[in-house]
Amino acid sequence: MGTMKTNPEAIARCIQEARTIAVVSHVNPDGDTLGSATAMRLILRKMGKEVTLFCDGKVPDMLCFLPGAELFRVPGENEGPFDLMLAVDVSDEKRLGACAVLKEKSRRTAQIDHHPTNPRYMEENSVDGGCAATCLLIREQMRTLGVKLDQEIAVCLYTGISTDTGNFSFGSTNADAFRVMGELMEHDLPLAKLNRILFRERSREQIKLLGRAIESMTFRGNGKIAVMKLTKQDFADSGALSEHTDTLVNYGLDTVGTEMALLAREADSGQIKFSLRAREPKRVDEIAKLFGGGGHPQAAGITMDGTMEDCVEAVLAEMEKAEG
Ligand code: 5GP
Ligand code: MN
Repeated sequence: MGTMKTNPEAIARCIQEARTIAVVSHVNPDGDTLGSATAMRLILRKMGKEVTLFCDGKVPDMLCFLPGAELFRVPGENEGPFDLMLAVDVSDEKRLGACAVLKEKSRRTAQIDHHPTNPRYMEENSVDGGCAATCLLIREQMRTLGVKLDQEIAVCLYTGISTDTGNFSFGSTNADAFRVMGELMEHDLPLAKLNRILFRERSREQIKLLGRAIESMTFRGNGKIAVMKLTKQDFADSGALSEHTDTLVNYGLDTVGTEMALLAREADSGQIKFSLRAREPKRVDEIAKLFGGGGHPQAAGITMDGTMEDCVEAVLAEMEKAEG
């Protein structure tokens, strides 16, 4: 598993030399970053390390079952110092959010990630842009550290692997993902229960927001681009939160005839947040980068200042060009 791009030995040295370790997830945390961080906490504790979990953002309700999920916090005034800061699944420095202050409070900095656009912003960077999930890299890291799997760690790793592969359906899903899944099953992974929580259950608020998103759908680029918009009003009327937009953009891409999909929503900050999706060979990461965003070829995001209409039209113009 992995490639020459990952460096589990260098990460292992950082960990072995540290006693206090700050493990950091990205803003708007998802299953992979939280699964990676909670797994890392359990792994490091087995090694006798003192671990603190950080995230600039609330853990989504759906992911509260992760062991240690209640321990995440935003760095306070007098945080640290730490021997090591370890970021997991954080594609660029901006996505550390308020946790970026930990860089100055940590003797050493390292990261484990799988985003191809990662600019390798730490001292030690174990980054494999070809890997389906950071949680797969965590499994590899465990071998280097000599820490054994158990059921709790299996729950964490399954969460990241299953969510980042779209429940084992994206093109990124490879034999490695299934090999690791085999190992997790051998450790009594409660698959049916977790699968229901992660991929089927939705709150009433989410179902109402889903209705608004689908109602808003329009088509551009000769019908090949599905566009959905959610306003602050839609969130207020449905009672849903920002975190409930997770998979909504997929309804655009799952509409027969589309090749790209865009979901734009008014965030609490007043900014416009985009989720962009594409079906191979189309890609959206380069479009996202034009607007200061990033992500993967077929799943990318942007955070922009401006009005909904202006932002959407600017991004759509580039998508229509790509649709050509
Ligand atoms: P989502 O649409 O699920 O929020 O994000 C899809 C992918 O795009 C994620 O893998 C994430 O790393 C990336 N992404 C989402 N929002 C942003 C953003 O505002 N800036 C950057 N650089 N990447 C983002
Ligand atoms: Mn990930």
